[in-house]
Amino acid sequence: MGFVSLGCPKALVDSERLITQLRSRGYQIAPGYESADLVIVNTCGFIDAAIDESLQAIGEALQHNGRVLVTGCLGAQPQRILERHPKVLGVTGPHAYERVLEAVNEHLPRPHDPFLDLVPPQGIRLTPKHYAYLKIAEGCNNRCSFCIIPSLRGRLASRPLEEVMREAEALVHAGVRELLVISQDTSAYGSDLRYPAARWRDQSYQTRFIDLARALGSLKVWTRLHYVYPYPHVDAVIELMEERGVLPYLDIPFQHASASVLKRMRRPAHAENTLRRIQSWRAQRPDLTLRSSFIVGFPGETEAEFEELLEWLGEAQLDRVGCFKYSPVEGAAANEMAAPVPEEITEDRYRRFMEKAGAISAERLSRRVGQRCEVLIDTIESGVANSRVAIGRTMGDAPEDRKSGV
Ligand code: SF4
Repeated sequence: MGFVSLGCPKALVDSERLITQLRSRGYQIAPGYESADLVIVNTCGFIDAAIDESLQAIGEALQHNGRVLVTGCLGAQPQRILERHPKVLGVTGPHAYERVLEAVNEHLPRPHDPFLDLVPPQGIRLTPKHYAYLKIAEGCNNRCSFCIIPSLRGRLASRPLEEVMREAEALVHAGVRELLVISQDTSAYGSDLRYPAARWRDQSYQTRFIDLARALGSLKVWTRLHYVYPYPHVDAVIELMEERGVLPYLDIPFQHASASVLKRMRRPAHAENTLRRIQSWRAQRPDLTLRSSFIVGFPGETEAEFEELLEWLGEAQLDRVGCFKYSPVEGAAANEMAAPVPEEITEDRYRRFMEKAGAISAERLSRRVGQRCEVLIDTIESGVANSRVAIGRTMGDAPEDRKSGV
């Protein structure tokens, strides 16, 4: 089988699960198109650039192999794929594992006895051995006006706490030293199930964000929380950072700071006073690293609203920041809400935003020079004159921060 995995860490986890299932059914993963009997392309449909990349990847797989199955976020819009690539063998939506496996079986029947190809209990991972993404829920119950993920991936469906913990424990036994918790809205974990009671290692928990963080923290490896929204109940996680386990790191996609833009974006927790919240977190944990992403050029964004964002950024002093220029994804409610911001203005705002964010980030990072920090070594590379250089990450650097430099 050939496998092309595109998109965010949540899609990566879908790929890992699919490959695990394929391996346990006796399929081998081929290193290239030519040696594969069939290729699966796991697509992304988040923004137009991602959709283009997915369509191009499907075209490339068809050109070099010819037998292609498509799955993932863009698969929720099969007509879009089939219009451009009518020769694909089948299209399924995101996290439709069983349907992908059925399609594989139909086009490439199971090769041999699966007991000859046993997979390790932690499954097949596409990440290095020492860290792993842990997906705690599928889908999302929010309705952010710029996002079509809920229509692609469905409503929030949290995994039972015991199941998440069993997976986390298997990963730790297999050598994972850092768990990266992901979902579309991590702080909403368990709300769809109404927070049922759970038991794990003789301890009682509720199936909710804070209890899951506590249980993961007890594994005594690094637990890094991604896609957390600034709801009041998130305050409690700061206390968990006292003990080694939950890292003093929060990835919070704020997206904007102007109350009127956030309202138009229909962001979760948009009415919260985020600056006050950040200040109180930092007072408790001065070493807290905050990472976030933003959108500039949202329909109707005025210069005054953008200035408000810049001012907020100056006050918030975020450590790591990424920024998207608004892109009108087909089907997003925001496209109809207000006049689009002209491209050159969006470009200019992007530049001004990144200049400011970069300066803040550089200043904050410079404070670490001369400090001794615990690190996880990602790679050992060759340096000058036959020396070897170890590249590590501190608690304040997620793997993606190092790769993207945000
Ligand atoms: S929280 Fe908003 S941006 Fe994130 S997946 Fe849900 S609807 Fe989309």
